[in-house]
Amino acid sequence: MHKVDKSYETLLNRIQGDLAHASKKDSARLEIPEPQIIWVGQRTIFRNFMEFPKALRYVRDYVICPVCQSPDTRTEKVKKLGFLVCEACGARSSIKGNYA
Ligand SMILES: [Zn+2]
Repeated sequence: MHKVDKSYETLLNRIQGDLAHASKKDSARLEIPEPQIIWVGQRTIFRNFMEFPKALRYVRDYVICPVCQSPDTRTEKVKKLGFLVCEACGARSSIKGNYA
């Protein structure tokens, strides 16, 4: 059985929190569209992530597969290390940064 991975929730909260923070700081008048995030089991599909330049550093580190560039990935946590597992090509790569 799969354990439910709370890291997605944490990541999402961080993305949304940072986006809200960044939008206020950068331009109070800039309209930020609502993130369209679809949850399918353990997979997260960030439908309109290209509209979020601020999110791209997160996406690049935590969502996009470095091998095939697919956003169709999930995260795994093994002994406090985060791994990005690609559903498209099966690549598994370690996640850099302050992944909590
Ligand atoms: Zn891949």
